Amino acid sequence: MNGKKICALLCLLALITGLPGEGTPVPAGAPVEIEVNTPPLVALTFDDGPRSSTTGPLLDGLELREVPATFFLVGNRIPGNEELVRRMAAEGHQIGIHTYDHVELKGLSRRDFDLQVGKTRALIAELAGEGNYWLRPPYGLMDERAKSWCGGPVILWSVDPEDWKDNNIDRIVACVVEQASDGDIILLHDLFPNSAQAALRIVDALLAKGYCFVTVEQLMEERGVVPEAGVRYRKIN
Ligand SMILES: [Zn+2]
Repeated sequence: MNGKKICALLCLLALITGLPGEGTPVPAGAPVEIEVNTPPLVALTFDDGPRSSTTGPLLDGLELREVPATFFLVGNRIPGNEELVRRMAAEGHQIGIHTYDHVELKGLSRRDFDLQVGKTRALIAELAGEGNYWLRPPYGLMDERAKSWCGGPVILWSVDPEDWKDNNIDRIVACVVEQASDGDIILLHDLFPNSAQAALRIVDALLAKGYCFVTVEQLMEERGVVPEAGVRYRKIN
């Protein structure tokens, strides 16, 4: 249950039971305000997939834990993995674009930009329906022209365990769990089996610490941040 829902529920209870306190007169119809400690939020994000042998088990683990994530897909990995993309959408995950060939979005012509971003967007829309598919540029790099063409917010990250470096599950888990704080966007790569396993251990550890997992879009919505096209977002708190 998210913070808003908790707050709404408590407000409703307050109206029914006459909270906030015994002996506190509450005039009929008056708004009741209660301060509620909302749980810290984090967004888990995965780049470079989909890959059936790793993304599939990861989706199974996330489903079991009822945890949503955000997947930034490489377009040329979608053919042959269509079912994974449909499953992401059906199970409440956010889907975004990570270019077609995993290229730097710097110095590209408009035509090449459209081949990398527009083509991937069209492939995703074909499988997951028309929607607003946000962009994560490979290596976090984009020039001003690419920013002006992207048509949506640019999602970077605030916690990066560099999981591609050594694929060491214990190190990746410890790095993220020690660093994570409210509003973080965590970067992992579902291309690697060890990263997928580390991700589920990270989920378990942060759930035990009271964190709530949301998609990047939900994180911005919860924090009242209106996404702007061409603007880069790293941490939302
Ligand atoms: Zn990447």
